[in-house]
Amino acid sequence: MEIIFNSIVYAIVFAFGSAIGSFLNVVVYRLPAGLSVLWPPSRCPKCLNQLRLSENVPVFGWLWLQGRCNHCRSPICARYPLVEAATGLLFLLIFWRFGVAVETLGLWAFFSWLLALSLIDCDTMTLPNSLTRSGLVAGLVFQVTKGLSPNFSPIDSVHYLVLGGILGAVVGLWLFDIIGLAGSLALGQNAMGAGDTKLAALMGAWLGWKYLLLAGFIACAVGAFAGGGAIAIGWLDRRQPMPFGPFLALGAAITALWGEAILSTYWQLFFPNVTF
Ligand SMILES: [Zn+2]
Repeated sequence: MEIIFNSIVYAIVFAFGSAIGSFLNVVVYRLPAGLSVLWPPSRCPKCLNQLRLSENVPVFGWLWLQGRCNHCRSPICARYPLVEAATGLLFLLIFWRFGVAVETLGLWAFFSWLLALSLIDCDTMTLPNSLTRSGLVAGLVFQVTKGLSPNFSPIDSVHYLVLGGILGAVVGLWLFDIIGLAGSLALGQNAMGAGDTKLAALMGAWLGWKYLLLAGFIACAVGAFAGGGAIAIGWLDRRQPMPFGPFLALGAAITALWGEAILSTYWQLFFPNVTF
């Protein structure tokens, strides 16, 4: 009985996540082009034929249409169903990790911003201000609601907001400006865009300064590794800029899910006699 109930709950979470993924596709496609994300409803980018409800079902709609517009038969990019499926799986992963909790709702929102920003950065090498700004504000709202519990006191909320969110955002702005400066001195070119600094501030608002540092470290490590690898096998020219937003987002996602475990393992490995 429990297995059936759990399966239904997981299916609902996946369906919800993939529907959000469908909306993220729209945001990623329309926001950099300066189009409204709410109007008109989903349609074929080629012939502008509006999708029917059944064709608009995340993941399955694309499979049903066999990757082609029903009207003009022009191919629909496989990235759309992939983003939808990935969002559904990420929502499941967060739910599996945190269960029915404020954290789950918060991380669903956080990951949605991270995913949209990563994809836009890959497409356009920019991180739109409207998204980084709204994501930062949402992060601060999340910090305030984290203090809400049965034995809630307003002081908890203020504590999370100031010591978690606002401090994290400020550290994000400063630290990544410094990293960017050091990087451009070392490489003789702009290592990090202004958008990356704003994304770091957004991450700080959600994660707090301590976990922001971990996320930044992971991002730099993975970014250097991936960048070096891409240059080595000839995918990337040394002078060619690489979007850094996706690596920051990856660091943030890993930290949000497993940051506590990573940090405590780290302390035990290197500072076994120090307690905090
Ligand atoms: Zn079409």
